[in-house]
Amino acid sequence: MIHKTTYIFTLLILLAACTVTQNVDVPVTNTPVIEGKLVKNIDEFKAAVKAAQAGDKIVLANGIWTDTELKFYGKGTAEKPITLTVQEKGKVFLEGQSNIRIGGEYMHVEGLVFRNGHTPSGSVIAFRKDKEMLCNNCRVTECVIEDYNPSERFDSDYWVEIYGKNNRFDHNYLVGKRNRGVTLAVRIKTEASRENNHRIDHNYFGYRPILGSNGGETLRIGTSHYSLSNSNTVVEDNYFEHCNGELEIISSKSCQNTFRNNTFYECQGTLTMRHGNETLVENNYFFANRKANTGGIRIINESQTVRNNYLQGITGYRFRGALVVMNGVPNSPLNRYFQVKNSEASNNLIIDCDHVQLCAGSDEERSATPIDTKMTNNIFYNTKKDDVFTVYDDISGIEFAGNVVSSNIAFPENKGKTLEKGFATQEIKFIEKDGVKRAKSHPNIGPDQSKPRPGRDNTGVSWYPKKDYQIRFGTGKIIEVPRGENTIFEAVKNSAPGDIIRLTESGNYFEGKAITIPHTITIEAAPGLAERPEITFERTSLFNLENGGSLTLEGINFSGRDCDDYSGNSVICTSRYSMINNYKLMIRNCDFNDLDVNHSFNVLRVYKNTFADSILVDNCNFNNITGHVFNLDKEIDDRGIYNVENVVITNSTFKDIGGVVLSLYRGGRDESTFGPILDLHNTTFDNIGHDKRNQYQATMNLHGVQLADMHDLEFKDSKKINLHLIVGEPIIKFKDVVLKNNEDITSNDDAFQQVNVTRK
Ligand code: CA
Repeated sequence: MIHKTTYIFTLLILLAACTVTQNVDVPVTNTPVIEGKLVKNIDEFKAAVKAAQAGDKIVLANGIWTDTELKFYGKGTAEKPITLTVQEKGKVFLEGQSNIRIGGEYMHVEGLVFRNGHTPSGSVIAFRKDKEMLCNNCRVTECVIEDYNPSERFDSDYWVEIYGKNNRFDHNYLVGKRNRGVTLAVRIKTEASRENNHRIDHNYFGYRPILGSNGGETLRIGTSHYSLSNSNTVVEDNYFEHCNGELEIISSKSCQNTFRNNTFYECQGTLTMRHGNETLVENNYFFANRKANTGGIRIINESQTVRNNYLQGITGYRFRGALVVMNGVPNSPLNRYFQVKNSEASNNLIIDCDHVQLCAGSDEERSATPIDTKMTNNIFYNTKKDDVFTVYDDISGIEFAGNVVSSNIAFPENKGKTLEKGFATQEIKFIEKDGVKRAKSHPNIGPDQSKPRPGRDNTGVSWYPKKDYQIRFGTGKIIEVPRGENTIFEAVKNSAPGDIIRLTESGNYFEGKAITIPHTITIEAAPGLAERPEITFERTSLFNLENGGSLTLEGINFSGRDCDDYSGNSVICTSRYSMINNYKLMIRNCDFNDLDVNHSFNVLRVYKNTFADSILVDNCNFNNITGHVFNLDKEIDDRGIYNVENVVITNSTFKDIGGVVLSLYRGGRDESTFGPILDLHNTTFDNIGHDKRNQYQATMNLHGVQLADMHDLEFKDSKKINLHLIVGEPIIKFKDVVLKNNEDITSNDDAFQQVNVTRK
């Protein structure tokens, strides 16, 4: 049925067409014929909702709806749902502080796009109008939520909350959640939301950056408090891409959920059966492509079934191994770890994965080893790594049978029992179909490929463009900059994301203004210069990294000699306010000299609620600096939050530094993150850390660092290297290190490695 208003409108255009000259193209055919009640503002929408009967359709007019809170409720029927749709898909946007709450029976929502803003309430899409009116038999399909974040990193919200029963959330595209809070949560707080039979399918869960804290899950079903209730939620045919928020991509916290035929593409995290029993994890694909910190499936609790999954190229260790069976806590409280009982991992094909972890998390508290559990007919194939299996405790409660491994794989022994029984070594020939390998000799191990595998093209929506979410340097134009005053400031001001600011002359560039870095920028010396360009400056900081900014510096010398004589200057400074976007900082072939006009002159100064994906320093020299070089210790609440994921410092020298060269801080006992991670090698330290204002009285202070690979280092006349090892079984290695007239390595715990550390 054509709606009356539209009909009249079309008629008017037709009439108008008759009166104008015949040569004019009249856009009659372009006027969309809308079926349903077209609404153009919130009042019309409210009136339409009030009047809506089963079978009615409400249509949001094209355009941007700003600060619009939609309450869409009513009572449809299975045959005649009440539908909320859009005039044209991809042309209706909800921006600013907008959201939707849905309530009632058989309510369908489709085609909404949320962007350029954030929800004013606890969620963007809620399957309840209020506490009383939940959704039953409702559906949300083909909606988009893109980069819809508040400005504060640790302000928490959900993008989607599902309440009630028998709801479907399908073919939606959710991408770019950067603040704390689960992307999609199934809530089971009341009886009316349990045994819900929700179906979450064919969604595209796109990029979710590292949060640097717990609370970055993409999917959570239930909470520990109600975890022994049945949720009966089915999650199938979804595509998860770069969902890197934290350890748990999916946190299943209730009973009888099913995860079937989903694809996880290069996700740093795991599908975790965190609480609740009788979960089925079947026929899922994990393509990790050997990306760092990628994980697979983690088993906790009772009667869990993990079968016919495909796991490829997973590198994560400990809790994010390819397959992890946890130890539990005896008589565990609801929020800790229940013992693994009566569970099964079978027919899984695990190829080129680095870690399978058994009795993971074994410690004084988590002492209950798995019982009545089977690991059968799995293939663990990795010809490049022998020590794939790690056994942390007594595995006699796991029955192993029919498993196949590549012949190089070694079996660890633990408490008198080797793993070898139940495993056969065999060279396997693999055949490949649609990018999935299968063992010729064991065709039934691995996924059933008869069902379409979810990917970029058969999930989410087809009508909305997908952005590139990687921070990429050097993708824009080159802006050539001669010497002069504020020439770099001007160039950056006129730059676009990815541009390269190229300094074309040797000698001094003077910047009298602080340079704001609003997007990804490279500042580099032109190739072939006789000498490096040098930058001096006079403001408190030379570069201010704003939210969304990332910076590469290449082939430039920096001197602090022209700076104002104040304490607390820095070369690079993050925003003082929360940065919702993670940043990258790369510094190559640069020298930093004479940052000494006053005390506490830092190379980098960071603030709380800022987070670097990576800080990379290569072939740089740092000389005569009164403050710290890299001091990333602003998250001191001991809640497992920290300021940087990866720090890489190579082929560099540090000399005459008053503060620390590097301080990393991650406090608290939270285990849901991977970092900070440090790679430090071929670097020398001379006369570091002696300033009385150096609160650490150290050259480096590494607190709560999870992975530190430090080799080929020389420390001379410098303060101590201080370690503080906390949760997460950190791996801290020193190799080929010389300490010359230097303070020693100090630590609260001796569980770190020293290979060829000489003291002279
Ligand atoms: Ca978590």
